[in-house]
Amino acid sequence: SKRKSDDIMEFTEDLSTHRKSDQERADVLANPGFGDFFTDHTAVIDWATDAEGSRGTWSNARIEPYGPIAMDPAASVLHYGQEIFEGLKAYRHADGSVWTFRPHANAARLNRSAERLALPQLDEEVFVESLRRLVKTDVSWVPSGDGEALYLRPFMIATEAFLGVRAARQVSYRVIASPAGNYFGGELKPVGIWVSHNYARAGRGGTGAAKCGGNYAASLVAQLEAEENGCKQVLFLDPFNEEAVEELGGMNVFFVMKGGKLVTPRLTGTILEGITRSSIIQLARDRGLEVEERTITLGEWREGINNGDIEEVFACGTAAVITPIGVLKNGEEQIGDPDAPAGAVTMALRTELLGIQTGKIEDRHGWLE
Ligand code: PMP
Repeated sequence: SKRKSDDIMEFTEDLSTHRKSDQERADVLANPGFGDFFTDHTAVIDWATDAEGSRGTWSNARIEPYGPIAMDPAASVLHYGQEIFEGLKAYRHADGSVWTFRPHANAARLNRSAERLALPQLDEEVFVESLRRLVKTDVSWVPSGDGEALYLRPFMIATEAFLGVRAARQVSYRVIASPAGNYFGGELKPVGIWVSHNYARAGRGGTGAAKCGGNYAASLVAQLEAEENGCKQVLFLDPFNEEAVEELGGMNVFFVMKGGKLVTPRLTGTILEGITRSSIIQLARDRGLEVEERTITLGEWREGINNGDIEEVFACGTAAVITPIGVLKNGEEQIGDPDAPAGAVTMALRTELLGIQTGKIEDRHGWLE
């Protein structure tokens, strides 16, 4: 029996006639940075439905040249922000093979975001196939340096030209790819974090658990405030429980307690469920460490640092993997030491996760595809 996804698994290919030259590509790969350069192609699938409530169909899966999107100025994504996205990396291993990390987890999360934003579900296998096809087409763009990868950015946008406020009946799913350099330039320095008291990124019943553009738009002013105060990232608190720690603008947080137990904020519906977070919980449990997902307050952070109950604090996400947190700036108050070296548990988990992703450590959980 043929699976329903089989029809749209057939990607047609329209290859670019204006690819970057080998020299241009080599220049980018020599110093990729993050998010400034894009590969020669993009994967696209269109979706349409006749009427609200009818199921709709995906069609015209294709690889096409990377370039601007022609879109009607009334397209609802431009007005009401009906948009979701994902982020994951493809790593080149020593034998030259290229692997993505847990793409089915991103597929599942995209569908959870889609549900919240009234966008259509995309078959997980089709999502994974879209990544596979794009990576295969642009495989020469996958960097091979230490800590480097090809960052993949799948996204879904409402393209219907209609100014009424309702779920769009025309949608487009796309994937773009961008070579990413070593996030830290080789050096792993602890980051300073600014506690956002003036701004929240999510509210009860809102979109905090979804990966939608609007959440990030809402976080920018808080990020500016952090930078004005000499910090790299913002810590958002639970807007209904001011003392509860939620997550950073683009990363989840973990605490290593005395004795080795890990604590991370539980998923409240206002936090993004990071794939790095889930992987760290698994790797920590594999090591026999206890992991608690629970409420942790600013007060507990302050006390724990001061009395030694908290030995390490780190942030985690696809872009930077695992980053030690040095100081937490809470207004005038400073919690922790800006120059504290990365802790042993932080470094061990980081080395193991990176090792699995880059093929240096056995992938015992089957996370690479
Ligand atoms: N929280 C937020 C708000 C994020 O944007 C991200 C990055 N996607 C994360 C956490 C970490 O998620 P992941 O480990 O899947 O990259």
